[in-house]
Amino acid sequence: MHNPFDILFQPIQIGPVTAPNRFYQVPHCNGMGYRMPKSMAAMRGMKAEGGWGVVCTEEVEIHHTSDIAPYIEGRLWADEDIPLWQLMTDAIHAHGALAGIELAHNGIHASNLFSRVPPLGPRSMSVTRTAPVQTRRMDKEDFRNVRRWHRDAALRAQRAGFDIVYCYAGHNMTLPMQLLLRRYNDRRDEYGGSLENRVRLLRELIEETKEAVGDRCGVAVRFAVDELLGEDGLTSQGEGYEIVATLAELPDLWDVNISGWANDSATSRFEKEGYQEQYTAFVKSLTSKPVVGVGRYTSPDSMASAIRRGVLDLIGAARPSIADPFLPRKIQEGRSEEIRECIGCNICVTGDMQIVPIRCTQNPTMGEEWRRGWHPENIPAKRSDKEVLVVGGGPAGLECARALGQRGYTVVLAEARRELGGRVILESALPGLIEWRRVIDWRLTQLQKLPTVSLYPGSPMTPADVLDAGISNVVLATGAHWRRDGIGRTLWRPVAGSDGENIYTPDDLMEGRLPAGRVLIYDDDSYYMGGVLAELLAAQGCQVTLITPATLLSYWTQYSLEQKRIQQRLARLEVTWRTQHALAAIQPSGVLVTDLISGGVDEIACDGVVLVTERQPNDALHTALLPALAEGKLASLRLIGDAEAPNIIAQAVYAGHLAAREFDEAPVEGTPFRVERAIV
Ligand code: ADP
Ligand code: SF4
Repeated sequence: MHNPFDILFQPIQIGPVTAPNRFYQVPHCNGMGYRMPKSMAAMRGMKAEGGWGVVCTEEVEIHHTSDIAPYIEGRLWADEDIPLWQLMTDAIHAHGALAGIELAHNGIHASNLFSRVPPLGPRSMSVTRTAPVQTRRMDKEDFRNVRRWHRDAALRAQRAGFDIVYCYAGHNMTLPMQLLLRRYNDRRDEYGGSLENRVRLLRELIEETKEAVGDRCGVAVRFAVDELLGEDGLTSQGEGYEIVATLAELPDLWDVNISGWANDSATSRFEKEGYQEQYTAFVKSLTSKPVVGVGRYTSPDSMASAIRRGVLDLIGAARPSIADPFLPRKIQEGRSEEIRECIGCNICVTGDMQIVPIRCTQNPTMGEEWRRGWHPENIPAKRSDKEVLVVGGGPAGLECARALGQRGYTVVLAEARRELGGRVILESALPGLIEWRRVIDWRLTQLQKLPTVSLYPGSPMTPADVLDAGISNVVLATGAHWRRDGIGRTLWRPVAGSDGENIYTPDDLMEGRLPAGRVLIYDDDSYYMGGVLAELLAAQGCQVTLITPATLLSYWTQYSLEQKRIQQRLARLEVTWRTQHALAAIQPSGVLVTDLISGGVDEIACDGVVLVTERQPNDALHTALLPALAEGKLASLRLIGDAEAPNIIAQAVYAGHLAAREFDEAPVEGTPFRVERAIV
């Protein structure tokens, strides 16, 4: 049968190698890297199994002078590192895909905290990561060395089995790009001054990589055509354009994006699908070589359209391939509605930023392929004919019911509200978060196909209802609610006056009970909720002040690369804020706040107070049912998700998935997953 997306399945030549289709997993960090090579290889191999025609590494340091510790990326410093990469190339080749490696010298982005050698830079300057470290100005020998190290790394990459080798100048995190930029490069020698000189290292690296491995490997360039910095940076109308024009036919593949990472991986709160096209679309007009680009493409229509319109030749994806490693196969098999679409939340990015293995809100198996042996599409079949009652239809309950149903168990899911989705339904209605609904939409689509799962919305369950249901295995995913007393990370006693009038919680606002006039938001949660509610209320005409004990507004969003944009948006909405302040008391006319540094107390007049501090688990049903479990009236009772321990949505989905996988299985003694240990 004719597949309307055939264009996405045409092979394409990349130098001496041929990609089997147009699905290209661009390089992406994963927090596993050289420390967890088996985990990383299994994760990449899963993408190849799912149909991605090209699967790349993360950035791979070519030498110890490019050490970006504490962050965990790839390393190819020496021959001893080759076997580690063979794990990955073997896993990818097993499914007929090509393996790409992004070789990187990080220059001024490497603090060299591990290797303790002076970092290298176009000039003596502070490293770009905030650390009290400056670079050494590179001399002629340094340039010769970098070229040699890159060449050696390319040869090692070829020996490790890679088919595509990158020269990396995307993002300002790499030396070839840093030399391009006037704000970093003040040199007067052949590597500074004119554009021809500033592009010299990148040109040399491409030529020398081609000369070294170009007979068997495609040589790709990753290049950021725009930094969204106006005249202070590259622009797609200015030097970004000229550089592509200058090097147009030199590489075998152009992988183009925008810089820095926060622009490249913008969240759905700020950018929509295809958001990079406006910058990168020109590239194809300057080169006959294939072009790959990203833009959080999750819909096959947008992907096919980008190719038909001549904007791209290959659809680049990091996040869409994380959320659904089987996206290409689903399109190929006419199952596009089964795609688990990325919601653009950047929880995956927070893994790398926090130096822990990658995790994903939509795909609970991400990062668990090797250590737990989890597959994103397959799950062990049921062991018995036991039935399960799941109470609560939020992300935890829905994922648990879905995965149990996939195993073949008979499942009844009871949800108090008329609409399924729990916190996700409510939160996705907040400004900018609409794509988060996909967490629910995907699960409901899957659940409808499972004949053994019955959904009962509008069914609030009491302990008696649970026992009367006559199903002896019970999973409780009853969620959590926001505290109304100010207790949280900072305050350990209820704030004086929190029992008064005009006190609101995020739950109130999401249910439509909104304050008016001058509103003070006290944010001791420090992720997205405080900032997003400020946005909501400012848009409703409230005069909003946000106070937070943290040192930054929406502190934790720096790890999802959103903090700066949130602050800019709130500033535009004329929200005012104070950091390092805590709530001291709530009074009829306003609040008293404590400056956490000076200890001084100040009054802020307001008409309403929103407390965004902590959530309390809805675990009363669990407590009430424990005696029934002890008496043998229930065979099993498990509390999961926010009802067990409030956390982010990704953790609720994970908890639901884990409970479904562990149901009916013998408990594991000790650590329930494999650990990659250093061999001594
Ligand atoms: P999680 O993130 O852990 O999935 P949520 O708060 O999103 O938690 O979802 C919990 C869901 O459980 C909510 O939709 C809530 O209405 C539902 N719920 C809570 N208590 C009961 C109950 N006793 N009976 C049925 N549904 C319940
Ligand atoms: Fe997409 Fe969020 Fe998953 Fe990242 S964590 S891939 S942004 S759904």
